[in-house]
Order: sequence, then C-alpha cells, then structure tokens
Amino acid sequence: MTDANLLMKARAALKAVEAPGGDIVSCGAIEGLSATTGGVVRFTLNADKAGANAQALLERARAAVEAVEGVSRVAAVATAHRAQTAPAGGHANPFALDKKPRIEKAAQELAGVKNVIAVASGKGGVGKSTIAANLAVALGALGYRVGLLDADIYGPSLPTLFALSGKPDIVEGKIRPVEKFGVKSMSIGLLVDAERALAWRGPMVMGAIRQLIGDVEWGALDYLIVDTPPGTGDAHLTLAQSKRLTGAIIVSTPQEMALADVRRGVELFRKTNVPILGVVENMAWLETAPGEKTHLFGKGGAQAAARDLGAPFLGALPIEPDLRIACDEGVPIAFRAPGSTIAAALSALAEKIAARVS
Ligand code: ADP
Repeated sequence: MTDANLLMKARAALKAVEAPGGDIVSCGAIEGLSATTGGVVRFTLNADKAGANAQALLERARAAVEAVEGVSRVAAVATAHRAQTAPAGGHANPFALDKKPRIEKAAQELAGVKNVIAVASGKGGVGKSTIAANLAVALGALGYRVGLLDADIYGPSLPTLFALSGKPDIVEGKIRPVEKFGVKSMSIGLLVDAERALAWRGPMVMGAIRQLIGDVEWGALDYLIVDTPPGTGDAHLTLAQSKRLTGAIIVSTPQEMALADVRRGVELFRKTNVPILGVVENMAWLETAPGEKTHLFGKGGAQAAARDLGAPFLGALPIEPDLRIACDEGVPIAFRAPGSTIAAALSALAEKIAARVS
C-alpha cells in the first residue's frame, strides 16, 4: 500500500540533493519513486539525466531518503547511460566516481547464493567465457539453481554466447537477470557500452563489480558463476575483497606462454585467500580422425603446471568445431546437444566442480 505522506517526505528529501542541472528531482533524474506503508522507498536514478557521476549521486540520494523518519529501507538503482557521447575529460559510466565501493556490503546482498565461483584465465582467447557459460548450463541441467555473471568488463561475451540484447528490466530498484537455458544471467555488456568500459580503471571497475553483485536480483542460487576479465586486475581484486568467492577455476590452453599467465592468476587468488578449485585445460587436442588426437599446442602442459602449482587438475577439453559454432549462434552446446561428447565432458567438469565445492 502506498504511503502518500512518506512519498511526499521522500520527494522533499530528494529535492535537497543537488545534480549538475539543478536538484535531482527537478532535472527529471528520479523515476518510479514509491513509498509503501511498511516504510520501503524505491526509486531509479536515470544516469543520462543525472550526469556523469550517477553512482555518487545515487549514494547521496539513498542517504538523503534513509534519513527520512519512517523509512525502513531504500531500494534504489542507477540505470546505465544510453548517451553515445562521453562527457569531456571522462567516460560516461553509471558506476563512476563511487569513491567508496563498499564491496563487502554489496556482497551481503548475495545472501541467497550458496557458492560464488570465479572463472579466470591468464590471457584472452583461451575459452574462459565459453567454459563459464557452458559450465553454468551444465550445472543447471544437473538440477542446481545457477546464475551466470559476465563481469568481463573489457570484452563481455555473454550477449553473444546467450544471444542477449536490450537493457535489462529494473523492478523495484533491482536489476532483473535474464532467465535463459536454465540459468539466471546478467552481463556488464547489457548495462554499459563495452568500448567505453575499456578505459575504466580502479574505482570505476570496482563500482561496476559492486553493482553487478549487489544490485542484481540473484535470489536463491546454488552457484553463481562469474566470468572475469582475462589477466589479473581490479575486477579480480574486488571480487576477492567481497569475501564471497567460494573458489576460482583457471582456464588455460596448453602453451607455455599461457601457462606463465596461469601462475600469476593462481598467485593472485592465493594471496587473497581464495581457494583454487582447479585448472581446466582447453583446446587440448583436435580429433583429426575417429579416435586420433592431434595435440596442436603440445601435450599435458596445463596438467603439469597444475601439479607444479599444487592446484587440482580438473580435466581437458578438445578443440570442438561444434562448440565454436554453438557459441557464435548464441545457443550453448550444453543446451543444444546435451548428448554430444563435448557436452558430456562439460557435464563431467560441472560434476567435478560441484563435488570439490561440497
Ligand atoms: P576467452 O573468454 O578466454 O577470451 P572465449 O570463450 O571467448 O575466450 O573463446 C575464444 C574463441 O574460441 C571463441 O570463438 C570460442 O567459440 C572458441 N572456443 C573456445 N573453446 C573452444 C573449444 N574447446 N573448441 C573450439 N572452439 C573453442
């Protein structure tokens, strides 16, 4: 039930928050303001109307409403920028300028999520996103409740892998994940312009991760699989600092160079006390004739590296053209052809991971 009196008081409190074009109510940045008799106030901050520092404004707006007598909870979220032009001297970013990205607080929002698993790789192009997405679908097929968060800020792949497009729905101040292939998914690529995100550093990346974790309605899940950017950087540190990571999976191809990067990835997670659930070797061989394996990039490199690093080896996956085609067509192979050899291998990987977690 609407509390008209509280609604008026909340609007008045918001009018005291200054934005570049006047106060945030007058410049039209507040949308969907509501107040219930239970004291819950909800609103959306339109990032385009609010200006470049939407995240900082959101925090101020939230604080202003929280201070109103009778308010028990504030559910507020900033929408993504739609404008194509970046403001002078900066990059349009709904998550920007949040100087205190309270990642631990945001992570508390994952109360209903039992396990958060980061999928990482030393470098790009090794199949990290492919494995993260198919692993999520395979875990779903095993009967688990699964979420998939594409946090690869510098090259989100989920819009392609799951054929997702358009802005996500925001309901009662929360970003609603897209339910597809038995998985609840959300990609940074649906919220921001990927090209612009390439320039993000430090606080912007941290703010984005915080919002992806805290402001998406993940609900009750057994596993939240997080596809991280390649290499080791701010996104990984932020996730580790959330203190919610159950563990990390490292994906590598067998080559030496990739393996040097794997070592760096393992080190970062170890330093931040995140358990390494294991290393997966991808593109390990190509079946050139039935039963005949050609090890294009050398044999057993990732397994040997896992042993050196004291990390479990979770298994190897072949180069499988059907897997690549399914990725490009936006239907995960674990969903499209669950009976195929590659889908069975992915399912076995999912079972192994579930067993390691439990
Ligand atoms: P990353 O996330 O590490 O950058 P991607 O998951 O985007 O890598 O994979 C890079 C490319 O390799 C994609 O075209 C994907 O379809 C393809 N690919 C990944 N793993 C395999 C595989 N086992 N067999 C065939 N193609 C693969």
